[in-house]
Amino acid sequence: MTDRLIILGSTGSIGTQALDVARKLGIKITALTANSRVDLLEEQAREFNPRMVALLDEKAASDLRVRLADTDIKVLSGIGGICECAREESADTVLNSIVGMAGLVPTLDAIDEGKNLALANKETLVAGGQLVMDAARNKGVNIYPVDSEHSAIFQCLRGAPRERALKRIILTASGGPFFGKTREELADVTAAQALKHPNWEMGAKITIDSATMMNKGLEVIEACWLFGVHEDQIKVVVHRESIIHSAVEFDDNAVIAQLGLPDMKIPIQYALTYPNRYPSPTDELDLATLGTLTFAEPDYETFDCLSICKEAIRRGGLYPCAANSANEQANFLFRNGRIGFLEIGELVGEAMEACENKYDFNLMDVMATDRLAREFVSRKVAERKGSI
Ligand code: NAD
Ligand code: MG
Repeated sequence: MTDRLIILGSTGSIGTQALDVARKLGIKITALTANSRVDLLEEQAREFNPRMVALLDEKAASDLRVRLADTDIKVLSGIGGICECAREESADTVLNSIVGMAGLVPTLDAIDEGKNLALANKETLVAGGQLVMDAARNKGVNIYPVDSEHSAIFQCLRGAPRERALKRIILTASGGPFFGKTREELADVTAAQALKHPNWEMGAKITIDSATMMNKGLEVIEACWLFGVHEDQIKVVVHRESIIHSAVEFDDNAVIAQLGLPDMKIPIQYALTYPNRYPSPTDELDLATLGTLTFAEPDYETFDCLSICKEAIRRGGLYPCAANSANEQANFLFRNGRIGFLEIGELVGEAMEACENKYDFNLMDVMATDRLAREFVSRKVAERKGSI
């Protein structure tokens, strides 16, 4: 179990729930970071008294520095400040709950400093899976998944034989708010409609990713890296109720699943207390009350982002990074009413095809691919608008 914890992205959906868990278990917080939410970070800093905090936004950080002048808390800014927090020396674990591939460099810094990782920031593994897994192996640090499906798989694999008996991963998907809809019906859906997730309360970016099923595509890639499997060993199944968080199938066709009510506090807490388990604020699961659990095949044609991610990890190299970065940009444009829902998948697919791939790459190549994919999407959108 972690004793001293750093939380990156502490003002978000996962970050605030992680602080709830830390408060209940009495875990000491040594550093906190966020993008620009001064009020909430100040409140968190006053309650948890970390050694340092950082805001990406320089102006917001100046404001926070004034507000925390009566404390001993060091206030840092920019990506450099976030990375300094990720390396805070007294902590043993970093929980990365930053959204997007902005979390990659702080992840690598945390590993370099020998910290164990509790990883919610799936884009880190999608964009830089090879770099992160190699670094973790070299430093001998552990990566504990926070994403509910990956936590489920991780839990199902406890007690599995050391030699490879794992045949398949069964990755469950809620299907999001638009399950069962046709492309025609999706042409005019708005961001407000896409932001209404049936089962989970999450940040805006991942909620849109759930509606397009890009989220499940990113999770396929995340699972490939975390569990050392190929894409064709992962079977995605739509399970509307989000009670079975995922399952593993062994060579003898025995299937082990992890169940629970949809509440991120369970996987967050397990990532922080592994291998121990403690009482949780989450309600007990009552199967008889639930009555029925349902399962269905995903619709790969309508939800093309899922197919594109599977193709990206099959190809390997920088393709997953290109698809992820294009999606970050397209997701943002959709949330701001600049593009239609179906354009997200189109742009992600085109940006992946345009990727200048390398199989042997470093962090600079990942950063360059990120920039090119975002520029590609912006340029395509500008061209489309110009031609209307
Ligand atoms: P969120 O938008 O609620 O919070 C994101 C956090 O990151 C905030 O603290 C924000 O200040 C910070 N941040 C945003 N942009 C940043 C940047 N460029 N640099 C540094 N910090 C930045 O997001 P969330 O829903 O908590 O998701 C966080 C991560 O966890 C994502 O990768 C998401 O896919 C993953 N995840 C979330 C859930 C969930 O239930 N919310 C479940 C599984 C996985
Ligand atoms: Mg998930």
